[in-house]
Amino acid sequence: NQQILLAERPKGMPDSNTFKFVKNDVEDVKEGQILIKTLYVSVDPYMRGRMVNAESYIEPFKVNEVIEGGSIGEVIESKSDQFKQGDVVIGMFGWQLYYVAGENEVRQIDPSIAPITTHLGILGMTGLTAYFGLFDIGKPKEGETVVISGAAGSVGSTVGQIAKIKGARVVGIAGSDEKISYLKDELNFDEGINYRTTDNIEADLQWACPYGVDVYFDNVGGEISDAVMTQLNTYARMPICGAISTYNQEEPDIGPRVQQTLIKKSALMQGFTVGNYSDRFKEGAQYLGQWLQEGKLTYRETIREGFENIPDAFLDLFRGKNIGKLLVKVSER
Ligand code: NDP
Repeated sequence: NQQILLAERPKGMPDSNTFKFVKNDVEDVKEGQILIKTLYVSVDPYMRGRMVNAESYIEPFKVNEVIEGGSIGEVIESKSDQFKQGDVVIGMFGWQLYYVAGENEVRQIDPSIAPITTHLGILGMTGLTAYFGLFDIGKPKEGETVVISGAAGSVGSTVGQIAKIKGARVVGIAGSDEKISYLKDELNFDEGINYRTTDNIEADLQWACPYGVDVYFDNVGGEISDAVMTQLNTYARMPICGAISTYNQEEPDIGPRVQQTLIKKSALMQGFTVGNYSDRFKEGAQYLGQWLQEGKLTYRETIREGFENIPDAFLDLFRGKNIGKLLVKVSER
């Protein structure tokens, strides 16, 4: 087997010292267990939070243990009545080539309905994050303006499209011209702002949002969010989904204090994690699947290849190299 362990807890941007590759034998498969060959590994920004020993909604990774995360694999041996060889399964088995799972640890997915990778993205964790964050907290109404940061990523690109389905005006903020073209030309966003090349993001926002901002779906935090908060309308809603611009900072992020803004605008800011909605995942997946089928929703994936490239692919999230969901393909089916 090949596994990637957390070698040490990173300070700042993780690097090659953060990860350790090990080779070892695959365990024997016991009664009730299955052997899975990993096909695709998901790399996600929240994993950075699990690399440090801090209190959170999810346990930190343990040093010298396999990095856990969403993965898709194929059953290559089964001693369970619930799975047979060739079944495709999804679970949290993370950064390893093979995994012996108990039958309740993974869930089967149907490759005939949608490409299997969609279960790690648009029909999986990131799609559901977009769905619940936008609709339960953002609550966009027809004609309102929705601004999204991290707009060309997996969560952001879904948020924008489903906000359009609800008839909102949608403005995306992202880090390259290619991403802005993707948002406007392929996803029908009304406007896009490249935060890396603009010299005045507030002015750009004013121009892109002539009627102000009703919903700000925040994936990045930091200065981009400070700028958006100068443009809020009364009763604006802000689902706080992520703060990727601060995940590698060594010091706490101190920006403009927002209390007065929230008071003056009677604005609502609410953090959330997708796990809060686990009892409604079926509903979310149903709508997302339906919109996908009807062609109202599309998605992109950035797929890197090779087990050895998983850590570098993870770092690509912080370099903004991906459009849509970032995945690593590690084996052929
Ligand atoms: P993405 O596909 O959006 O990938 C991350 C993107 O973040 C990059 O492509 C990059 O795009 C952007 N980015 C990286 N560094 C910075 C920076 N310093 N400033 C601004 N943008 C930056 O990842 P996901 O869709 O998986 O996740 C998006 C956000 O949602 C993350 O913050 C994540 O933690 C959060 N999240 C929260 C969940 C929840 O339950 N609350 C669940 C899932 C995700 P660019 O080129 O535009 O900079």
